[in-house]
Amino acid sequence: MANVVLRDICKTFGSFQAINNLNLDIEDGEFLILVGPSGCGKSTALRMIAGLEDVSSGSMTIGGVDVIDMTPKERDIAMVFQSYALYPHMTVAENIGFSMRLSGWKKPRRDARVAEIAKILQLTPHLESRPANLSGGQRQRVAMGRAMVREPSAFLMDEPLSNLDAKLRVQMRAEIASLQRQLGVTTIYVTHDQTEAMTMGDRVAVMKGGVLQQVDAPKRLYEHPANAFVAGFIGSPSMNLYEAELRGGALHLSGFQIPLGEVVPDRMARLKGYEGDKIVFGIRPEDLYDSTLESGQKLPTIPAQVFNIEELGSEIMLHFSIDATPVDSGDPDAVEDLSGSSNGVARFEPRSSVTHGMSIDMGIDVSRLHFFDPRTHEAV
Ligand code: ATP
Repeated sequence: MANVVLRDICKTFGSFQAINNLNLDIEDGEFLILVGPSGCGKSTALRMIAGLEDVSSGSMTIGGVDVIDMTPKERDIAMVFQSYALYPHMTVAENIGFSMRLSGWKKPRRDARVAEIAKILQLTPHLESRPANLSGGQRQRVAMGRAMVREPSAFLMDEPLSNLDAKLRVQMRAEIASLQRQLGVTTIYVTHDQTEAMTMGDRVAVMKGGVLQQVDAPKRLYEHPANAFVAGFIGSPSMNLYEAELRGGALHLSGFQIPLGEVVPDRMARLKGYEGDKIVFGIRPEDLYDSTLESGQKLPTIPAQVFNIEELGSEIMLHFSIDATPVDSGDPDAVEDLSGSSNGVARFEPRSSVTHGMSIDMGIDVSRLHFFDPRTHEAV
């Protein structure tokens, strides 16, 4: 087991800078998720840690040892990729034990280790099966088993679940997270899926355009995003982001105002610098309410036009439009959350009787508002 430290890591491909000054401290035994939209550089970062890609500049240690000039083999790490090529002619046991055979382990020792790993991965009944006779999830577990036999100092995983169907992905997500805790091996896991990131890791590192945006525990990322990009990227559906003018303790939008009476005092103090200026504010779908229900009463309201209703049983997803200019967080998926000409999403209780086409007054919990600088998009 080992900690992994990256200092000022840069990577250029020709004139293109794929990674810009990446600094990360991954603790011994930690499960760190690297997440970001396609092309943000997460796979490149992982490949550099693995030694499969040279760094252009910067330093890197694994377990306190400088690994920059080491080959992948010398780094003592194990990788699990999205395409896990198992040997089709070998049984599960032979697949898992293959690298031990190459390393010259004697059969009894090899068998004991394979049995141990198979037990952890619940593959014992399948040890004599061939990959073709396994489900997608079982095959993925065999691939994990192959990586585990060596007791590496760190696991590196690049979108290992992306070839599985949605249901299996959810199941394997939980299995990998619990396996990681059981083994306690430092793990760096790359995904573009923010739900995977939020549910699996101890901490999540969010990247965009080769630049690390924020590293934090999932809950902190959700509640205290460092900028509008993280705010938009973490959470599904995305946080609603709009531009407003701050004047006299209220947000002024084209056709209405939101009084900020209940915003906590220290945040009010930070907002002072924006008095008379534009500001970006964000509100998560679950912090908007049906003002005709008890939960939504006593809240300030904003006039909204209902565009579309998705009845999900446990909740209602309401696509609405308000007279405000939405702000692009830079997350390509955020736009997909919106339907038609709506510019926001709210998550209402299933008891709500709002319907398609209605004009409503929507309750807004102003104590849950997020604020961002209109120029830098950094959190205020
Ligand atoms: P995805 O989720 O789509 O795999 P990613 O975040 O993992 O994306 P990378 O694969 O790390 O992104 O790529 C980061 C950027 O570097 C991309 O713009 C990619 O086109 C570029 N890139 C990666 N490898 C090379 C290469 N060998 N030569 C040139 N450009 C590259």
